[in-house]
Amino acid sequence: MSLTCVAGLGVSGTAVARALAGRGERVVVVESGGGERQLAAAAELSGRGVEVRLGPLSLPEGTTRLVTTGWAPHHPLIAAALSAGVEVIGEVELAWRLRPAEPAPWLALTGTNGKTTAVRMLTAMLTAAGHKAAAVGNVGVPVVEAVREPYDVLAVELSSFQLHWSATLAPHAAAVLNVAPDHLDWHGSMDAYAAAKGRVFERAGTVIYNADDPECARLAGPYPGAVGFTLRVPRPGQVGLVEDLLVDRAFVGDPVEAAEELATLADVRPLAPHNVANALAAAALARAFGVPAEAVRQGLRDFTPDPHRLAHVARVAEVDYVDDSKATNPHAAAAALASYPSIVWVAGGQLKGADVADLVSQAAPRLRGAVLLGADRARIAEALARHAPNVPVVDIEGQDTGVMDRVVTEASRLASPGDTVLLAPAGASLDMFPGYPARGEAFARAVRALAAGT
Ligand code: ADP
Repeated sequence: MSLTCVAGLGVSGTAVARALAGRGERVVVVESGGGERQLAAAAELSGRGVEVRLGPLSLPEGTTRLVTTGWAPHHPLIAAALSAGVEVIGEVELAWRLRPAEPAPWLALTGTNGKTTAVRMLTAMLTAAGHKAAAVGNVGVPVVEAVREPYDVLAVELSSFQLHWSATLAPHAAAVLNVAPDHLDWHGSMDAYAAAKGRVFERAGTVIYNADDPECARLAGPYPGAVGFTLRVPRPGQVGLVEDLLVDRAFVGDPVEAAEELATLADVRPLAPHNVANALAAAALARAFGVPAEAVRQGLRDFTPDPHRLAHVARVAEVDYVDDSKATNPHAAAAALASYPSIVWVAGGQLKGADVADLVSQAAPRLRGAVLLGADRARIAEALARHAPNVPVVDIEGQDTGVMDRVVTEASRLASPGDTVLLAPAGASLDMFPGYPARGEAFARAVRALAAGT
């Protein structure tokens, strides 16, 4: 009899074990951590007859398939399974295989940055068109759970990790928002990372790509009829911008003759170039599913931006303070830095092997100062010294909870009226915080204290 080993008791690992046990399949979950959450999940699964092995990880005897939720190929357990000839798949691939007889179509979206935002915009558009739709995948709800619910359509956010472990997904339409270096330690190289993203296109009904991003255009190259989205005037077969209008020249009767207005820039919040790209990608996916223009517009109006993404915290002494703590890589930070004309930049954290030279040289003309914190701040300081030598830099040492207060105080000293103090760290937060939300909240708290004069 076949035996599936599930790697890890995270949210999606637990969902996988639950789904397989519900189908009467033999499952063993292995988990090395013994925290409160894992113990609770283990107890729940044991109650459903799933064997959970807590402690040092090893492949259970007789394993025929291993389901991972994003573990790297070089993880010893995964490597052991691969070298033993055991099939390794991800949670999303399993979800695809477990779809019911009449499944909801998938609209899949990946990219280095903007996935959550675009998937939520897409869900709002689908909902506005009267469909029962949900945002699933990397965005929160495990796909393996969502496929069993009676949705009309799923807006599926896919990470490069999930795509790496997927082999047969055939979404109704798939979009790649952008591709920039990130997670290179996981994938091993930029080529491997881009290839993982490109897998989303392999069996897609409609291929949608960012025509302004050369790497996306390269990934879409082999697919005739691929639909580009662009911040420029769209050519026939593209979705793009004509002055302040979002315009469809792809999903219309005759793309040479016809164009349909979808929305205006005023419908996009927060209004920043990268977010218009997110709106266009979402619109293209929605249109590929037949959503009418009015519902695209209504969806954008209904969409509520998630916290820590260009979130305006306060205005103090004519200086705006903006929290983009979710900018956990240089590409995201570059988008945030391109959104304001005159910036005191708060940056630092774990760079995960990424280079910040290009980011700093592009942003240099907008920078009025920089305040650096966290593990890799010296690397950012070096890039600033080389590419923006006239920008004053304050280095904040320390890991204590007061760090953000000092950061904000120093940033306020560097800022002049009309400037934006922008937290766009370019690195992950785990060196100092439990996650990017905690980092953004610490920043917002410090800003509010500054505003209150405490
Ligand atoms: P993801 O789910 O891919 O992490 P989010 O929507 O959560 O994407 O946004 C992550 C970060 O990337 C935020 O800091 C945001 O400001 C920035 N960002 C959002 N959209 C884009 C984009 N299209 N290009 C570059 N950066 C973006």
